[in-house]
Amino acid sequence: MKITVGHLFPDYLNIYADRGNIAVLTRRAAWRGHELEVEAIGAGDALRPGAHDLYYIGGGQDREQELIAPALAAHGETLREAVSCGTALLAVCGGYQLLGRSYRDQSGGELPGVGLFPLQTVAGERRMIGDVLLECELEPGERRTLAGFENHAGRTFLDEGAEPLGRVLAGFGNDGESGYEGCRAGRAIGTYLHGPLLPRNPWLADWLLAEALAHRTGKTLTLEPLPDELESKAHEVSAGRARARGGRF
Ligand code: GLN
Repeated sequence: MKITVGHLFPDYLNIYADRGNIAVLTRRAAWRGHELEVEAIGAGDALRPGAHDLYYIGGGQDREQELIAPALAAHGETLREAVSCGTALLAVCGGYQLLGRSYRDQSGGELPGVGLFPLQTVAGERRMIGDVLLECELEPGERRTLAGFENHAGRTFLDEGAEPLGRVLAGFGNDGESGYEGCRAGRAIGTYLHGPLLPRNPWLADWLLAEALAHRTGKTLTLEPLPDELESKAHEVSAGRARARGGRF
């Protein structure tokens, strides 16, 4: 089957090899006989509701975020509608921040957001940097860990009742205080975790692929498991570094 992906602003938001997440999704889909068709979407491109099964947006420095925030916000209505109709989405760090209501950056500028996630972000003095380990439960009763790397000045505050992606076992997370990281809204996932994230967390890559396939087919499909020896080792090394780092500040 063909899975269509809208990669938002790939030329601006792509630090820490965030583009690697697309490579992992492409390869893991192909190993199951599916094809990932990736379309780069920028400022002047029209976004068609329902045209994509999955959206992806990476991270970036404040400067890049300032350059694209108004154009991304202009796609806001279509992105919100698409996700409310079941399109899957992964947003990393700077992209995650801009899918909230707003990001007040380190220069004090208020960058408009898409308002897809019920949250807003304000940059603080001190950057939150290092290996991170989360515990997630995207499917009831299925507890899993996510391991990655964070580097952000932004402190993200979720609205009352908003669903975080996971509980911080080691690292700073959304704001270094709440003990939570990321945000989830249906099939949309936002996170501060770079790395890139998916090579060392193949279960999340498969979760996103299954959600994207469900959007395309209207059916819940199970992906056949893959050996993932190398991926599991990469996860353990990353998780080990995070645990060794322990708590916050
Ligand atoms: N510029 C944002 C911040 O500093 C996001 C950084 C990133 O994407 N790593 O918080």
